[in-house]
Amino acid sequence: MGNDQDCPVPTTHSHSGEPNPAAPGWGYATRAVQSAIPRGLGQSIGLPVHTAAAFQFENLEQAQEEFAGGGGLSYARMQNPTVQQLEERLSSLEGAAHTLALSSGQAATFTALMSVCRAGDHIVSAATLFGGSAGLLQNVLPLMGIETTFTDGSPAAMQAALRPSTRVLWAEMISNPSGDVADVSGLAEVAHAAGALLAIDNTVGGAGYLVRPLEHGADMSVQSLTKWAGGHGSVMGGSISVGHGADLSRNPIFTGGGGRSPLALHGEQALAQWQRWLGASQLGMTLAPHSAFLLGQGLETVGVRLDRECATAQALAEWLAEQEKVSAVSYCGLPGHPSYERAQCYLPHGKGAILTFDVPDPSRFLSRLGLLRIAPNLGDTRTLVVHPWTTTHGRVPEEARRAAGVSPQTIRMTVGLEELADLQADIEQAL
Ligand SMILES: *Cc1c(COP(=O)(O)O)cnc(C)c1O
Repeated sequence: MGNDQDCPVPTTHSHSGEPNPAAPGWGYATRAVQSAIPRGLGQSIGLPVHTAAAFQFENLEQAQEEFAGGGGLSYARMQNPTVQQLEERLSSLEGAAHTLALSSGQAATFTALMSVCRAGDHIVSAATLFGGSAGLLQNVLPLMGIETTFTDGSPAAMQAALRPSTRVLWAEMISNPSGDVADVSGLAEVAHAAGALLAIDNTVGGAGYLVRPLEHGADMSVQSLTKWAGGHGSVMGGSISVGHGADLSRNPIFTGGGGRSPLALHGEQALAQWQRWLGASQLGMTLAPHSAFLLGQGLETVGVRLDRECATAQALAEWLAEQEKVSAVSYCGLPGHPSYERAQCYLPHGKGAILTFDVPDPSRFLSRLGLLRIAPNLGDTRTLVVHPWTTTHGRVPEEARRAAGVSPQTIRMTVGLEELADLQADIEQAL
């Protein structure tokens, strides 16, 4: 840590939430394996999978109460015990008050943004975004009358783009693929002064292992669980974790309706309840219980995997920077990267497992690889590469592609668990 004194200090009040009252002080690795598993005679030691579509009531009154918004178990579109256990574990790991797990990262991003916006509202976003998020903001939300202004992602630029109707600021904690690290505490100040919320896509932050945006002032930490949480390229999911005390008092969705407004009815839980109603109950983007089981199991090893992946990514980035045929190596753990300083503050355990580099002939390079595989996922146990210019960023306007650090020569790599020497040997022969 080079510049501790300039680093924003994380707040600790939301660090553990109340996931496991028995031991709120447990560290990340302990919570990853111990949270959400009840103790007791005959209790299963892993996460049980509940496949029921519905849950029983004993009488009319119980059913009536549940349908009036009881928040318990009734129908699996809204709540399922396996999904609940995953949500509890995610809350523990992200330092959140509540977590909603959904069927994909896209479902989570859409629900997070739609939960605080209605027709006529405005979003301010960083321009360097995952393609699916850019698609939602550019193509889908406008169909509902919600407009987005794209900025360079700095607090000053976001501040300048604010409107009275701005409800939420959106940025990626560690951007894919350029590795820009968001100034979360600066963005939170801008958002909160304007009566808006700050929502951060923390996918590359690895389920709160590398960084927990809620501790730095964000109101929502959204992620694609498909990536590092699942971790084996075998399952899809997404989640929204919300912090304690998001200020919704200036958002008409939550204040309209007087004494029956969501804020009056649900208080501190209004945002989480609204998101579950919207994303799960109404839109039906429910996570399947088998997927929840795989994701919950993936979370048990996310820190161990990321330690190794980040160490390999750092070593590969340094090695690539020395290769004659390679140019423009981009990794926020390298001193030349624009986010290098901020990464030292926000990412003490590792600088993430994605990096990019330019090669003279990407087509030839990719076709010669024998170990690295060409596939678009992130956070797999296997090292994967893509050519963003023609694939993940193919539909992004050329100027925005270049602003996102993508050129026609760029290769994006998500680093897996293989031996460093084997990865180096494969890259070397392909070059
Ligand atoms: C993959 C990804 C998403 C979308 O998640 P899916 O699970 O693929 O729907 C969102 N944000 C980032 C940064 C991603 O990498």
